[in-house]
Amino acid sequence: MNAHLREVPPSNDAEVLQIQLWAELGTSHHSIGPGTWIAGYGPEPQNEPIFAVQACRTWRPGDSSQMERFTTLPSGYPIFHVGQQSRMLIPAKGADAFDQIRNWTGKTAVARIVLVEKSKSKQSFAYYGKVGDLQDFDPVLWKWRNGEPFTLYRAKIGKELLSNRDQLKKPIAEKWRHETNFQPKPDWKAVWSNCSKKESAFLWSVLHQAVATNTWRARFNPQASPHCPLCGLGIPETKSHRFFQCPFAKELWNFGFTILHWLTEGPKSQSPAKAYSLEQCIFGKRIRLRMMGALRAWALLRGIIVWGSWILRNDAVFEETVWSNARSRRYIWDSLLEYGRVEWDRTLKKLKFAKSPEKAQSALCEFDSTWTIFEVFCVRDGLRVSWKYASPDVPLILW
Ligand SMILES: [Zn+2]
Repeated sequence: MNAHLREVPPSNDAEVLQIQLWAELGTSHHSIGPGTWIAGYGPEPQNEPIFAVQACRTWRPGDSSQMERFTTLPSGYPIFHVGQQSRMLIPAKGADAFDQIRNWTGKTAVARIVLVEKSKSKQSFAYYGKVGDLQDFDPVLWKWRNGEPFTLYRAKIGKELLSNRDQLKKPIAEKWRHETNFQPKPDWKAVWSNCSKKESAFLWSVLHQAVATNTWRARFNPQASPHCPLCGLGIPETKSHRFFQCPFAKELWNFGFTILHWLTEGPKSQSPAKAYSLEQCIFGKRIRLRMMGALRAWALLRGIIVWGSWILRNDAVFEETVWSNARSRRYIWDSLLEYGRVEWDRTLKKLKFAKSPEKAQSALCEFDSTWTIFEVFCVRDGLRVSWKYASPDVPLILW
């Protein structure tokens, strides 16, 4: 279980807490009685605690030298990580966590840990006591437990989200109230069945508004700009801006619409591609297409594009690399072909184990229904597939 995934931003309940400064431990710990919390923190000057342990009658920190303070911790003794932003105590599990704390050589101090009772659920949480300044709260500073920044999102994290998908209870329509003039009804089946786990889970997070765009950051941190960091138009970076309206997202969608157009009309068609709405692109409202295979490609494209709008944004913000239009198109094309190759491998496996020629034929038909339409993605000759590593060189024309 990824402990930091369970983190929640400090709620209003946290306001009852007082700022508590840490006192460095002295050389002798005779004064440390049962119930005292001791925490360790890293070399950085901001001095946020990394873990906390409570002394009890049978154990308190060793007092010979700082290096040996935690070496006497008995196996299985309750130890806690401190949430980087929520400052909640999260049980640390596993031998690694124990070893890290037993061998701790960093600073150590007495910590004030406060129990906070959540008013509604009556569930209590233990917080590290240096709370009170919500000014500092910035989701961009959140870290996953493995130390990766919150804004860096990987398939593994997506998998964790998959297993926790009922944790956000607020209805989707409520979460999007400020951004849409329609009642969003996400097509969950499409979200979970069509894309990779990574893209599915990310799309799920977007639908739940659980992605740290700047408007979200600014709600908690008055110093953070709520504006889109990419287009420079001074527009708040809402979810609908980030993933749909921003010119950088539009560029991805436009190429997506064009691919969809090639799949329904052929890549040589001179007619313009149709542009779809936010409701259709993000929430998966059904679109009418003559070919069912194109619908499948559309579901894949939606996941690829939503994910792409996020990584191109983070590349610009954290790596100072701005994607060119050509790069955006290449990203989409490569990602789609990647899906195609995986499905071809799967098809070959099905052929190998097919119990009848009909079964084999139907596996090939299934592959063809998405991947060989108008030979946009590949040409299949029997069991030989030649992928088109460059997209058709046709200018984009949109309605
Ligand atoms: Zn923008």
